Amino acid sequence: MNISFYEPYYIGTEINHIREAMEQHQISGDGHYTEKVVSLLKNKFEILNMVMTTSATHALEMAALLIDLKPGDEVIMPSFSFPSTANAVMLHGGKPVFAEIEEATLNIDVKDVERKISKNTKAIIPVHYGGIACKMGEIMTLAETYHLYVIEDAAQGVNAKFKEKHLGTWGHMGCYSFHGTKNYTCGEGGALLLNTSDEQLLYRAEIIRQKGTNRRQFMLGEIDKYSWVDMGSSYTPSDLLMAFLYAQLESMDHITQKRRAIHSYYENFLKRYVDRGIIKMLQTPIDCTPNFHLFTILCRNERERNTLMGNLKKKGIATAFHFVPLHSSTAGQKLGYHQNDLPLTENLSKCLLRLPIYPGMTAEQLAYIQKHLSSCLDAFGEL
Ligand SMILES: *Cc1c(COP(=O)(O)O)cnc(C)c1O
Repeated sequence: MNISFYEPYYIGTEINHIREAMEQHQISGDGHYTEKVVSLLKNKFEILNMVMTTSATHALEMAALLIDLKPGDEVIMPSFSFPSTANAVMLHGGKPVFAEIEEATLNIDVKDVERKISKNTKAIIPVHYGGIACKMGEIMTLAETYHLYVIEDAAQGVNAKFKEKHLGTWGHMGCYSFHGTKNYTCGEGGALLLNTSDEQLLYRAEIIRQKGTNRRQFMLGEIDKYSWVDMGSSYTPSDLLMAFLYAQLESMDHITQKRRAIHSYYENFLKRYVDRGIIKMLQTPIDCTPNFHLFTILCRNERERNTLMGNLKKKGIATAFHFVPLHSSTAGQKLGYHQNDLPLTENLSKCLLRLPIYPGMTAEQLAYIQKHLSSCLDAFGEL
């Protein structure tokens, strides 16, 4: 049996929406489906303001532009993240400052963030790993004390909550991803949440994503013609993609339910190995409502992790061990970071393994994974 690490899940109605967008000649950005997606997300997640983008990477870049990131500015983020988090900062001459993570969730360690605040610190980018929330209350308090911006990298956190508020709505800004590997997708897509009523900032956000023009005002009929008003780029997704995404968002609860079932299946049969101290599972703190984006286990050491991964691969089961810490990767070393700068992050990333989790997985596939995963973990137990 061959089980891929990830497969996209189609609702079936995507094609109907795309056809409708085509028939209405709405194929560029900011058409009817973009509006529908925005209003669905705003209502469901209680978002104050948001713009759709071509990716979470682009949403992060927009956020860096909006806070006027300048060369020399420092932004604190976990080393345990996807390169986009650091790239967005570096593209504007800013410096990523990497903080440690906590073992229970692999999310940023707030105490280490505070230790790393300097006179050059401009912002904090917490990353919600696997859709489990960072300690947003503490992070917002810290940000207020030191006058810092908070930009949530909620790429994996769509439809997850911390306390009663959705991820992405806690910080000054929040970034969502609708990439093909995420829970709700259109292949490539994202959103920037602007949790502010600052009209000037919202106006600038529209200009930045519309190639530096006031095209948005033109579309709204507020002006006769549009022109170049400021620096910008092109971050608006095609309405064809938004039509696809709309179908997925309409079925958001169904998708989440399927993921929850797989998550529980893993949790139930792996519990005995946790009790025997052979592996650890990540924890979901009580004030977190997860979206079941990932299923991650921590082995006792790198050797067992690699053995497990290799044995599963031989049986046709694909697994993954993202993220490789940013500070110890090639680009991180160029920034002046060294091996052992963040020992906890390095150790945890060497022990972690992510198991397949996507709505299309069948009961047979899960039973097959259970069989081979158990036999390997039982063998570790004998050691
Ligand atoms: C997927 C991901 C991104 C990038 O999302 P794109 O939409 O592909 O640009 C950024 N940060 C994190 C934590 C991610 O998981």
